Amino acid sequence: MPSVCLYHSHMRLLSALFFALLVVPVPARAALELPDLGDPSRVAFSEEAEARLGREIMRQIRGSRDYYDDAALKDYLNRLGERLTAASDEPGRRYEFFVVRDPSINAFALPGGYIGIHTGLLSAVRSEAELAGVLAHEIAHVTQHHLARMVKGSEGLTVAALAGIAVAILAARSNPQLADAALRTSQAYGLQQQIDFTRAHEHEADRVGYQILERAGFDPSGMASFFERLMAQGRLYDNNAPVYLRTHPLSHDRMADMQNRVAQRPYRQPRENPGSGAEFELLRAQIQAHEGGVAETVKRFRALVNERPQDPAARYGLIEALLRDNDARSALIPLEPLRKQLSAPLVEMLAARVLRAAKGPEAALPGLQAALARWPGDRALGYLLVRTYLAAGQARSAHAVVVERQRTWPEDVLLWRLLAETELALGHPLESHLAEAEAYAREGLLQAAIDQLQTALREARQGGKTGTGSDFYALSMAESRLNTLREALQRQNADSRERPGKGSP
Ligand SMILES: [Zn+2]
Repeated sequence: MPSVCLYHSHMRLLSALFFALLVVPVPARAALELPDLGDPSRVAFSEEAEARLGREIMRQIRGSRDYYDDAALKDYLNRLGERLTAASDEPGRRYEFFVVRDPSINAFALPGGYIGIHTGLLSAVRSEAELAGVLAHEIAHVTQHHLARMVKGSEGLTVAALAGIAVAILAARSNPQLADAALRTSQAYGLQQQIDFTRAHEHEADRVGYQILERAGFDPSGMASFFERLMAQGRLYDNNAPVYLRTHPLSHDRMADMQNRVAQRPYRQPRENPGSGAEFELLRAQIQAHEGGVAETVKRFRALVNERPQDPAARYGLIEALLRDNDARSALIPLEPLRKQLSAPLVEMLAARVLRAAKGPEAALPGLQAALARWPGDRALGYLLVRTYLAAGQARSAHAVVVERQRTWPEDVLLWRLLAETELALGHPLESHLAEAEAYAREGLLQAAIDQLQTALREARQGGKTGTGSDFYALSMAESRLNTLREALQRQNADSRERPGKGSP
């Protein structure tokens, strides 16, 4: 389902919001933590309530199959995002950029500064500047507090009505007719007012996003050119698009606004970020290698390598497509020329995956060790080395790398999760639960962290493994951490009861 514009990002946002709260089946591993939003009949957001809701939604998204869990890609997007947010009016605000597996061209902002980007969008943008244009637009929705303003401006918009919209939008993925019907009903709940609201917000996000782009040193004409292409594409689908796309077009006046801004701007040389353009090309090739049928994709990239032998992204995509086709032997062939062409962490990580698939995890270790020594600041390389050690059955080495990297990044959630894995591999279930709890605590999911610690303590006591020195130490650590987290959770709950929506009258 091709989506035409970023306009319905708010709809996505609302759907995700209530999808997370009401629709999603509770995952087996932990109970769903319902944030306390105060008066259930009228939704109003304090910043804290918004942040908590965002964290909960992210937990659901991270656990879903559509979450595109790729450390290198996420790292790249967050670096690109940081460059943009530093140029926004609220440079201190925290954001997290993540990727969702979805072929439609879209991006969306969730409560709490979480910005999701569809794989379809990453594949469709032609340059890093175009991608930056989309991110800047979404960042502007956050800095302009559009979500809070939208919810506040909607008298009579109830949780039930929003849940109706959520169901409709979810259904749209599989059954467009059903979604149309459901949306017509929810329009009776005053959805039209929402749409008028968001139309103004779209204009504002374009304008503020444009400023961010300029200040960050990107060529802002990328924003206009990308939206122009989307609009041209949208025309083709006019009649088949679901209602919410037809009623929320990327309007002509939005386009005209953007073109005017570009036309009036004195020419300035965009500031290039050395290396980051090449990284963008490789990551986009990686996404494109996972689109469509696998045989055609391999063929397409083979043709591309022949056509553009000097382009490392073509070889990179070919190797990725061959890996997808479980043909690691063939992937070894373009690997050497690619390594000669371009020396980069992404290339070494791809090489490690090829070697591991073709010859086993041990074969990938020397290259990864050398790469990490050369680029110690690359987080994704570190994760991959840990995972490869674990796959090779070398849990001690994996543990050493995690602990070493935690000295530089003590708040890194994934490092805590990897620590949990290595502790388990070393036969330390208690320490593993402790590490998992720390991961949850750093995601702001205090209840989940508490659950982990309680499980850890129960298992340790039942197992009767107490008595040895290290177990005693770990147990008392778990107990004191449990108390701290319980207090923090109590404070958090008290806070959200005392401060119902700071914007409410
Ligand atoms: Zn928007």
